[in-house]
Amino acid sequence: MFDIGVNLDHSSYLDSLPDFEQQFLQQDVTGIICIASNLVEAEQLQQHCAPYNSMSYTLGCHPHHASTWQDQDQQTLLEWFGKDTKAVAIGEMGLDFNRNYSTPDEQRRAFAAQLELAQQVKKPVYLHERDAFAEMQTTLRQHALPSGGVIHCFTGNRDQMERYLELGLYVGITGWLLDERRNQDLIEAVKHLPLERLLLETDAPYLLPRNIRPRPKRNHPQYLPYIAQAVADIKQISLEEVRLQTRQNTQQLFFAGANMPNTSLGR
Ligand SMILES: [Zn+2]
Repeated sequence: MFDIGVNLDHSSYLDSLPDFEQQFLQQDVTGIICIASNLVEAEQLQQHCAPYNSMSYTLGCHPHHASTWQDQDQQTLLEWFGKDTKAVAIGEMGLDFNRNYSTPDEQRRAFAAQLELAQQVKKPVYLHERDAFAEMQTTLRQHALPSGGVIHCFTGNRDQMERYLELGLYVGITGWLLDERRNQDLIEAVKHLPLERLLLETDAPYLLPRNIRPRPKRNHPQYLPYIAQAVADIKQISLEEVRLQTRQNTQQLFFAGANMPNTSLGR
């Protein structure tokens, strides 16, 4: 199993990365992708993950941080992607009009620059959208995505999902699926999500699956199997089928032409 969405920037992980890695490997999570939210964090991820074959990452600028985006960042990212084989996607990027931590115009500027970059470096895009569905669709339809991408932490309804699928995107499913207070639309969507477009992610340390007992303090990639099991239950298929298919999807989108990490304990 492979966790495509981890926010590594949390002291409980960074205080001991060897333990952090062992904990997810023990649960048969053989690799993770850590998400960068700005260029400073991207640079830290490059350093933190360097010793760990199981840990890859995205490089880019999240819409919340779009106000920090500088024109030269496009060139910086271009150079990084040229020499960094552990950088598997651009992002996370997109539009988030829910809180507007950066203004909509700042978000549009950073997003457009990174979509342009995706065409130059031929890497998949790692997309974030909240309360910006219509504009996100319009923008994506104006840009070629030569290496595809994923709509990460998808929490929308079936119609919205179908529109993202039409764009050729993969759909990242998190523990939101296990939140009985707000998961009705998502359950319906997952029922209709083609298995070959499904990716699994914890979005740790956020979105702890609510069915874990005893209840941990925060989420962790070691809890990915809870999400995989929830998908298997909803689609009425075996956990093994979810495991194999999402592994293949992860390989195809993020590690095309390379060997994806398949780290096991005791290496
Ligand atoms: Zn996000």
